[in-house]
Amino acid sequence: MSIRIIAEKCNGCRLCVRACPFGEILMEGKLAVIGPGCNLCGACVPVCKFQAIEIQLRWTPEVDFSQYSGVWVVAEQKSGKIQSVTFELLGVGRQLARRRGSELSGVLIGHRIADAAGELIAAGADNVYLVDSPDFEHYQDEPYSRVVSRLINAWKPEIVLAGATAIGRSLIPRVAVMVRTGLTADCTGLDIAEDGNLLQTRPAFGGNIMATILTPRHRPQMATVRHKVMRPMPPDPTRKGKVIPVEVKESDRYVRAKAINFVEEEEKTVNIAEADIIVSGGRGMQGPENFALLEELALALGGAVGASRAAVDSGWIPYSHQVGQTGKTVQPKMYIACGISGAIQHLVGMQSSDVIIAINKDPYAPIFQVATYGIVGDLFRVIPILVKRLREGQ
Ligand SMILES: Cc1cc2nc3c(=O)[nH]c(=O)nc-3n(C[C@H](O)[C@H](O)[C@H](O)COP(=O)(O)OP(=O)(O)OC[C@H]3O[C@@H](n4cnc5c(N)ncnc54)[C@H](O)[C@@H]3O)c2cc1C
Repeated sequence: MSIRIIAEKCNGCRLCVRACPFGEILMEGKLAVIGPGCNLCGACVPVCKFQAIEIQLRWTPEVDFSQYSGVWVVAEQKSGKIQSVTFELLGVGRQLARRRGSELSGVLIGHRIADAAGELIAAGADNVYLVDSPDFEHYQDEPYSRVVSRLINAWKPEIVLAGATAIGRSLIPRVAVMVRTGLTADCTGLDIAEDGNLLQTRPAFGGNIMATILTPRHRPQMATVRHKVMRPMPPDPTRKGKVIPVEVKESDRYVRAKAINFVEEEEKTVNIAEADIIVSGGRGMQGPENFALLEELALALGGAVGASRAAVDSGWIPYSHQVGQTGKTVQPKMYIACGISGAIQHLVGMQSSDVIIAINKDPYAPIFQVATYGIVGDLFRVIPILVKRLREGQ
């Protein structure tokens, strides 16, 4: 890319000088001159009434796009159980593959997981690349990223999707670097543009706007998608697909950091990502001891306990319970927000819940703007009444 001032058209009006956010346009007599610190942001171009500033977009593709075809989903499994985000990715992957007239494939990595390949096919995959080896029993960054990038380089998919989960967020950026392409993290929408590029939509600037991002010069186009954002297809056990066993190479096994133990986090209630009902607490809970109140309500409802970042940052509850932009996206049937104000970063993680109930003593709290039902009151009085009524009804 390059920028130039067309001297014959510039009349020295200085509009571009004022428009440049970086102070990189100076006047030399009646001619605007662009400084060496220009980062080609383009803010000056539309303000010039004389069309005297020109940005030239010239690039040569680094790869031959015609070699790339197909949509891939990097499956996630824990102890051999396919995680539900994988089925959601296969659901959206199926739509993208249809739009591109190509095939949808899953990449399944683990140990003794061959049986799970059928689940991916039932959920929409045409092919499953199966890496089944004791070396891959537990997730580890290096071997997993090596094998996924080797497969991408060999088979050249056009689009690669993965979950924006703890594993996906660690694995996929490494793979993107290894295969020299871009990655759009935490997408909430995926579509195909007229020209065939993948449209990757995600919240930007603290969730205040939605940005649609393209990867126009590199392949594959890689995106991670949060759990519960896309809908899975209903499984069809009669679907037929191909399972392609992948041989593990010595170079795939290379690790510098060795995992010596895996410790499961103890959950008193259901995991929030899987729960149909979530009772979440915020700064209004006033301390860690008061989360017992939320646990009581969650247990009475058969749900899970969530939290705002304020509660997590205060050390009242572990991060795995955090809902929101930097926590988990949830979409339960019922979300009960207790002592949570409703900051945009919290709302982006829960506002697509079917029913939202807010308990807050401030009638002007923003959470009430997204709530289906609102209770204006002191949560320390309201929650015990709810628990009592629920227990009476059991
Ligand atoms: C980049 C970035 C990422 C972020 N990511 C996240 C995220 O993932 N998740 C997230 O939650 N936040 C996130 N935040 C923080 C977010 O902006 C807010 O600061 C946070 O959500 C506030 O948490 P809160 O609602 O619990 O606390 P507050 O905003 O302090 O609200 C507490 C609420 O409790 C009510 N209250 C107090 N006492 C009672 C009572 N006795 N009974 C009833 N109501 C009571 C008050 O009226 C108030 O509305 C992020 C911020 C940034 C900048």
